[in-house]
Parts: sequence; structure tokens; C-alpha cells
Amino acid sequence: MPEDFAVEPGRLYVVATPIGHLGDLSPRASAVLAGVDLICAEDTRTSQRLLAHIGVRVPMRALHDHNEREQAEAIANRIAEGEAVALISDAGTPLVSDPGFRLVRAVRGRGCPVVPIPGPSAVLAALCATGLPTDRFVFEGFLPAKPGPRRQALESLRNERRTMVFFEAPHRIADCVEAMAEQFGDSRPAWLARELTKRFEEFVGDTLGDLVAWPSVHPDAVRGEMVLVVGGCPEADAESVIDVDRLLGLLLDRLPTKQAAGLAAEISGQPRNALYQRALELKRDAAD
Ligand code: SAM
Repeated sequence: MPEDFAVEPGRLYVVATPIGHLGDLSPRASAVLAGVDLICAEDTRTSQRLLAHIGVRVPMRALHDHNEREQAEAIANRIAEGEAVALISDAGTPLVSDPGFRLVRAVRGRGCPVVPIPGPSAVLAALCATGLPTDRFVFEGFLPAKPGPRRQALESLRNERRTMVFFEAPHRIADCVEAMAEQFGDSRPAWLARELTKRFEEFVGDTLGDLVAWPSVHPDAVRGEMVLVVGGCPEADAESVIDVDRLLGLLLDRLPTKQAAGLAAEISGQPRNALYQRALELKRDAAD
């Protein structure tokens, strides 16, 4: 084993594991998993398969969203007493839409080192293969599942100039891309990366309009794990940002809702449906 693969006592190792292809587990990650005293895993049964694949038999403990609060302190104490612990999630890099943040904070709080063992993550795997700008990007994780909060979240991203990366579940993907097209427009560049590193890996694109049409054309393909990568707002659009609430407010004083939304859409270039919904909200707020 190379000397710099050696596991040191009293440390937490945050270890990235494959998002599909087992060959993506790095030699250093394997060595660390074999050398620690304890492996904390989101789902011990899922991770057991990976560990069996590399012949590692190390005690495991479950660390997930429902027990992290209470487990973090106890595990951090063990590290402070000299144990070497690895943290893994079901797939990819721990803490990226996965548990681990509280544990890392508790370990840092005790002044113990936290060592990243970098490797696969669906965020970068999707981002690096779409052809969208990568010099600056934002990772938005999972959007809210309910339509109202999701629309609000997307509205707040309407003028985002950086490339945006989202996780989404297959049963919500059709609603999600429709909501995106409503806010960002059909012609906004966008790619869906599906089943990355696995047998049926697929990239679908290259605009939101294409993605809206995709589920009905390929209903059998709407499954598996998915990442959405959406281009940022073009510079010209971002510069000519109109305060649509103000515009709608002025128009609603003089016109029926539908006409106000239609005129606001012509003036601002924003989607008519989204403005109509917003006009209804403004009217509701004004009536309260
Ligand atoms: N920590 C993980 C990482 O670094 O990739 C992400 C965990 S998050 C709970 C799971 C989400 O990641 C899935 O719903 C999907 O959006 C995305 N994902 C994970 N594996 C994927 C894959 N092989 N292909 C596409 N998306 C994937």
C-alpha cells in the first residue's frame, strides 16, 4: 500500500463512492475503507454490497437524516478518543444532498481533522458532459416537491446567469421541466443526464422545450436517477430585467387579469402563463 494511503487515528474520512460504476471507486478510497475502525453509512445494507465487492469487513453504523443529530456527537467523541472513522453515503460524495454535515461540524468542533477522499458525484459528472458553461455554476439540489414552492424557487432563479444544476426524482421530472420552461422559456439550453456511469446512461437535450416533449415521446425512459443542467439567463435578458410585479400592479389597476398578464408578457418577454399566475397571486395578496 502506498505510504500516503495510510489511515491515521483520530480522523474522520469523508469518502466518495461510485454513483453506478463500481470501477469508479478510487484505490485510495478502498484503502481508507479497509483501514478505518468504523464506517458510518447512510444505509448499511446498501453500502454492504460495495464493501463486499472490495472485500472490506469493518464495523458499520447507520448515519442518516433521522438519527444524525444524536449520532454525530457520539461518533465525534469516538474520533476525539483516537478512532479513525469513514463516512460514506449510498452513492457519490457524502454531504452533497446527503447526510454528514452535522457529523463533520461535530468533529471539527472537537478540533479533529476531517479528510476528504474525493471521487464521484452526480453533480460534476452531469455538468462536465453537457457543453454548457462550467466556469461558474450553482448547485440547487432538489427543488421543492409542491408546485407552489417549486414555482417560487424557480422564479427566484429566473435571472440567474450561472449554469444551474438540479437533482430530480423520475416521477417529478415532467412537472419539473414544465415549471422550468414556464419560468425560463422553452428555448433555454438544458440537459437531462440520466443513469450516469450505468449501463443505460443517457443525455437528453438541448433545450427546455426538448425536455418538456421528452417524457411523452419516451415514457419508458422516464426512470432511474436524473440530474438537470440548465443554462443561465442570457446576458441581454438579465440586463433588461423588468420589475414584473410593478408592471402587473399598474396594469391590473386598469385592465382585467387576462389582458394585464397578456400585455405584461408582451412588454417583458416573459411567459404569459407565469405572469397570469403571478397576477392572480398579486390580486389575492391585495384582497387579504
Ligand atoms: N451525494 C450524491 C452525489 O454526490 O452524487 C447525491 C445524492 S442525492 C440523495 C441522489 C440524487 O443524485 C438522485 O436523485 C439523482 O438526482 C442524483 N444521482 C445520483 N446518482 C446518479 C446517477 N448515476 N445518474 C444521475 N443522477 C444521479
